[in-house]
Amino acid sequence: MNKYTLIIFDMDGTLYQFKGSGNNNALFKTAFYEEVTQNAVQFLASQLSCSVESAQKIREDIFVKYNGDISVGLEKEFGLNRMLYFEQTWDIDALCYFKEDTILREMLLGFSCKKAVLTNAPRVWADNALNTLGITNQFERIYSGEGEIRKPQKEAYLLVCEAFGVKPNEVMMVEDELQYLKPAKALGMTTVFVSLTNNVSNKCFDDSSNESYVDYAIASIYDLEKIVRRE
Ligand SMILES: [Mg+2]
Repeated sequence: MNKYTLIIFDMDGTLYQFKGSGNNNALFKTAFYEEVTQNAVQFLASQLSCSVESAQKIREDIFVKYNGDISVGLEKEFGLNRMLYFEQTWDIDALCYFKEDTILREMLLGFSCKKAVLTNAPRVWADNALNTLGITNQFERIYSGEGEIRKPQKEAYLLVCEAFGVKPNEVMMVEDELQYLKPAKALGMTTVFVSLTNNVSNKCFDDSSNESYVDYAIASIYDLEKIVRRE
């Protein structure tokens, strides 16, 4: 029996790993994100009728000015439609990067509590990724990041709790980015940090990481079974 009513999962870097990822913000360094960037440059060159070089410069400036929220910046500065931006830059074939994961599906099936995804990625990519992994129907609700309310805003976490009618202290949050676990812990959730850099020795399931807002540190999503089953 586990004591959690709901487990909230991040998606990128948590439910699957890109090659070379595992550290904080590693998504931005992957071949996948390079593909997103290339698509964004093409999108900007086309929408703004400018050269590829100019589009690259615009994208980089917006990335810095808006702290990675490119779609928000493009809407504010150029009036570009955010949904169109997501459709044309994030509709990427997930099979190029990872495959169906039957082991993960079996593990999720074994958890009797409710499950949700809370990702800052756009819906088009969340659907591609979860469908490719073969786990879409394991989640009662999937929250993506197009809207103004998103991690690390507390409202993003509370929205999920309210939708399920649960209190934060009944919730486990599973994430690969520490910055997104901090508000979860502050709200009273049990936090699980997934990172390849975490210790994989026999201590890893008992010791919290050095960060005081991490309750459990695991090296792989597959290790979650040992925590949830134990509770
Ligand atoms: Mg992540």
